[in-house]
Amino acid sequence: MSKNIDRMIADIEQEVAYTRHLIGRTKLAPKVMKVMASVPRDQFVPTALKPFAFNNGALSVGYGQTISQPYIVALMTDLLQLEAHHRVLEIGTGTGYQTAILAELAAQVYSMELIPELSEAADQRLQKMGYTNIITCVGNGYQGWQEHAPYDAIMVTAAAAFIPPALIEQLKAGGKMAIPVGEPHRHQELMLLEKDQQGAQQLQKILDVAFVPLKQAEDI
Ligand code: SAH
Repeated sequence: MSKNIDRMIADIEQEVAYTRHLIGRTKLAPKVMKVMASVPRDQFVPTALKPFAFNNGALSVGYGQTISQPYIVALMTDLLQLEAHHRVLEIGTGTGYQTAILAELAAQVYSMELIPELSEAADQRLQKMGYTNIITCVGNGYQGWQEHAPYDAIMVTAAAAFIPPALIEQLKAGGKMAIPVGEPHRHQELMLLEKDQQGAQQLQKILDVAFVPLKQAEDI
């Protein structure tokens, strides 16, 4: 496995270098790359897809959903500049792969998923792997998770039609949110939203991306 994961890391580094003009960096933080090299992505994909687990591509995981491309997982994680004491909200648990990456870098991760079967499977998987700093729930990410707010960082792993106001509200002053914004199967942009200490927001476009949609109440 280590050879495969080494190849995945090399592929991520190469894609970061190719896209440096867009993402404004030639390398991601060493601690992010270290975590990418330590979380076994093959444990998060269906058995039939295990041979492809360390390819730098998205994979189908059932229910019309995907596990995101490793380069995108690494880039979005890097954007949040997590610190060991941070409390993070993730929207779109999916397989729990991104959740595990966040949990390696932050103190506590709260992860919401709309599809109960995916949430349950991810929760069991993450518990079995020994994570004790992840709390999952079934819910609609457009509303966020008020109970544990405010968060130091928010990661949204499905494309939202607009940035949900509840998520902006639940982000701490000084916090960062990574979120793909755009219409399903159309043009989408990965955005970084930063809230300064006075609460003013700054929005930066990072990259064109292709995510499954963050479903709105009327789709559910
Ligand atoms: N981060 C995941 C991939 C997520 S795919 C991983 O690493 O595997 C996007 C996920 O968002 C899907 O599982 C989908 O069911 C979920 N989702 C879609 N709309 C949602 C919503 N409104 N609220 C919460 N989760 C949602």
